Amino acid sequence: MGNSLLMASKGTHALSLKIIAECSTTKARTCKMKLPHYVVDTPVFMPVGTQGTLKGLLPQQLEELDCKIMLGNTYHLGHRYICIGKSWRSTQDSGGFQMVSLLKLAEITEEGVKFESPHDRSEMMLTPEKSIEIQNSIGADIIMQLDDVVHSCVTGPRVEEAMYRTIRWLDRCIAAHKRPHDQCIFPIVQGGLYPDLRKKCAEELIKRDVPGFAIGGLSGGEEKSQFWKMVTISTDILPKEKPRYLMGVGFAIDLVVCVALGCDMFDCVYPTRTAKDIYAKDFRPIDENCKCSTCQQYTRAYLHTVVQTETVACQLVTVHNVAYQLDLMRSIQQSIVEDRFPEFIRRFFNKQFPNKDYPEWAVDALKSYQL
Ligand SMILES: [Zn+2]
Repeated sequence: MGNSLLMASKGTHALSLKIIAECSTTKARTCKMKLPHYVVDTPVFMPVGTQGTLKGLLPQQLEELDCKIMLGNTYHLGHRYICIGKSWRSTQDSGGFQMVSLLKLAEITEEGVKFESPHDRSEMMLTPEKSIEIQNSIGADIIMQLDDVVHSCVTGPRVEEAMYRTIRWLDRCIAAHKRPHDQCIFPIVQGGLYPDLRKKCAEELIKRDVPGFAIGGLSGGEEKSQFWKMVTISTDILPKEKPRYLMGVGFAIDLVVCVALGCDMFDCVYPTRTAKDIYAKDFRPIDENCKCSTCQQYTRAYLHTVVQTETVACQLVTVHNVAYQLDLMRSIQQSIVEDRFPEFIRRFFNKQFPNKDYPEWAVDALKSYQL
């Protein structure tokens, strides 16, 4: 009787993933991910917003871009929640966490993460339970466990400690989660750049009844040759029927390679952060093939002259950057449906590297698929 109840509770998450097509050569797949507020086509790129808005972009601009999914930052430490469709508008005013972003990380203990105010040195303890409580009150579709993050340059026993603590904190987060019927909690695979720790972590996490998984602790400036190996080790273990979210990764080449390695969701601050990298004497649009409102109306030279002084230029470039990433993901989805993703990768690389100076790590990552 107890057993049958347990069985019935399995798989009853607020998220369901339907695999639409799988690449016959790589681990890439395209799926329909059903969430309480929206159905998302994967692989998907999620722009990172600050306090519920994408920096520099107006809500209607995001809608024009057909951007249905975005992330909000609650804290430092890459602690994030994911908002879908228009529902994220309502998160703009949820107070409480604005204050936290002003605090600096003081100490990590078994109890939680301690923050300190730089002004009056007052402290705030963010525990796994508190982090879930805040995310439950915000009400986003996907919420993240509190994890013990170490920078990817850290080596030695601290990495192992953080990995095991992340698993313990996951269990505390799951126990504290009050809204599993309409909010999906994602655990985070940690383990630094150690293959055995990554494997151990992934193997432990999949024993828990959770709707999806994140791969964290990467994109911190580690060697790319190690980065992709940690990704593929993780996706080899994480179950196919659940979404895999690679945190903090968003450069176009990384997206293409990591889709091949079996990742479904990505996020990055890149599209807004690089809005200032632009060209002074270039009278072409940013991208002649781009259909976004910025490329239709403005030259690079114009954007350069206004970018230093006007936030509107930042918005214009951000519109283009987000449009590019979203368009890239749609093209990837389509190529997987038609089972020509390997051909898409070849074309993408030829376009990005016309002199054939392909990054070695990307070649290595794709070599196992005879690409
Ligand atoms: Zn554009």
